[in-house]
Amino acid sequence: MEDVVDHGTGGEAGERATRRDEAVRAAVEQGLLGPDAAVVGLLDVIGIRKAAADLRAAFDAVLPPGTPVLHAFAVKATPLAPVLRLLHEEGIGAEVASPGELALARAAGVPASRTVLDSPAKTPAELREALALGIAVNADNPQELERLDALVRAAPTRSPLGIRVNPQVGGGTIGATSTATETSKFGVALRDEGAREWVVQAYADRPWLTRLHAHTGSQGIPLALMARGVAETYALAEEINARVGRRQIDTLDIGGGLPVNFAAEATAPTHADYARVLAEAVPGLCDGRYGLVTEFGRSLLAKHGTVVARVEYTKQAGGRRIAVTHAGVQVATRTVYAPGAWPLRLAAYDAKGRPKPGPAVVQDVAGPACFSGDLLAEGRALPLLEQGDYAAALDTGAYYFAHHYAYNSLARPGIYGFAPDGAGGMAFATVREPQTVAEVVAESGGAHAFALTTLRAHGSR
Ligand SMILES: *Cc1c(COP(=O)(O)O)cnc(C)c1O
Repeated sequence: MEDVVDHGTGGEAGERATRRDEAVRAAVEQGLLGPDAAVVGLLDVIGIRKAAADLRAAFDAVLPPGTPVLHAFAVKATPLAPVLRLLHEEGIGAEVASPGELALARAAGVPASRTVLDSPAKTPAELREALALGIAVNADNPQELERLDALVRAAPTRSPLGIRVNPQVGGGTIGATSTATETSKFGVALRDEGAREWVVQAYADRPWLTRLHAHTGSQGIPLALMARGVAETYALAEEINARVGRRQIDTLDIGGGLPVNFAAEATAPTHADYARVLAEAVPGLCDGRYGLVTEFGRSLLAKHGTVVARVEYTKQAGGRRIAVTHAGVQVATRTVYAPGAWPLRLAAYDAKGRPKPGPAVVQDVAGPACFSGDLLAEGRALPLLEQGDYAAALDTGAYYFAHHYAYNSLARPGIYGFAPDGAGGMAFATVREPQTVAEVVAESGGAHAFALTTLRAHGSR
């Protein structure tokens, strides 16, 4: 891990770090962050806009002009309506995988024509709604395809429909996010006996199946392996189209899963790197014969979010310095439970929100939850954090503060977007209000406080 945040590199990464520093200071100055708001999530609006523009440019650079492309943001990465709206304005659609995610995309005004539904457990009602709205659906398995058969027979639909396959090209360094292993739960496992022939026949029998989907990448997966998954998918589409004697499959959905560099400020690999690898490894994908859908999540948002938490106390135990902050397992669940797989860079700020100078001192940065493993970082060398300072967990714009984990009934923090105000300062917009304690009670059965004792009284009669 690069413990000292590198502002010296200039360029995009340096500018992003500078904006982040200014946002932390302004958040303290403006009272969004302080003794009574001890943890917040911050989102860099300029960074998000730029990431969206870079994604579009990356694929435009390797595709013939006019090739239909839909970049559908994987809503699960940052399920916040204002983020979906911002991305929509930047030309990015939505990939949804639950009724909640679909509702969020609709609340953000993402049209059905720019929405893709992909969950592995879609109910008949979800499928019916998707087809009624005209949302693209990728069937996960033969049983789901039977449900689509019935719906397509019952009513015409505008929904582009496809099947999700698992090319079984192998996993990466993180088991829980590897989707293309031999036994992954997603899609039709293509190398299993008889599976490939089943898929080909399924398309031959259903002229309305016009898409083919695979999502084989994720954190910990090398680009070359991701490209192999796409190559296998492309080869299958070619085989199907040859079998049926026409270009029935007109669009390939290559999923998302571009890994994020959590070890340094730089964006690496970039979407442009991946697009180039794809164009090289699967030239037929990029010759304009197929429309393209992508579903990037983490790589679009991770670098543009920051958790900032106040240091409530500092102490020492067994010779180890410990800063007890308000950010732990509730906002950084993956990192706390699997620190080896999901390490985060941390930055130290003083009580006024200014980057903290000083020599690096090895310390633990702990969260507020009541179990000893609740650590944002263990034995990390950082400028010494003191009471009233702030610790920031960087690159947390995806799968972190938007994925609150209600351990210890800790309240969801407020989330604010920031952008330069044009007068040398930072302006903030509320993305999500901080949860109140009254809301915590309401969501935790507050209205039913006597439900169980009443039940016992009835039962004993
Ligand atoms: C999670 C998911 C994505 C996004 O993955 P990232 O690693 O966040 O890019 C895309 N497509 C599907 C089907 C997914 O399940």
